[in-house]
Amino acid sequence: MLLPAEPPLRAGRYAIQFERYRWRDGKIDGIVRYIDHSCEPNCGIKNLLCVVAMRDIEAGEEITWDYAMTEDSDFRMECKCGNSSCRGIVGAYSMLSQEVRKKYNGYISEWLTRNA
Ligand SMILES: [Zn+2]
Repeated sequence: MLLPAEPPLRAGRYAIQFERYRWRDGKIDGIVRYIDHSCEPNCGIKNLLCVVAMRDIEAGEEITWDYAMTEDSDFRMECKCGNSSCRGIVGAYSMLSQEVRKKYNGYISEWLTRNA
């Protein structure tokens, strides 16, 4: 993945939510903000702030995660990921179907699942 010299101005939107009103970047500051959302992601979340691969990732393949794996706020954005399973909206964990939650089992932030 090629990284621009400076993060985009809106990069703050790409931080990880890890408590009800707290967000930050991942374990390695500055990296997570470059990872795009997908409704068919190849990465998920472990230990609140770590983006980890959910499957083998091919060389040159874009690294993605589903923002709903960490987010449970009123944040909403139109999704244009282009996957056949695209939900059309990037949003909160509470918007995920039981089917998607099951597919992501083990890769959803524990702050969202610890009381589930
Ligand atoms: Zn999508």
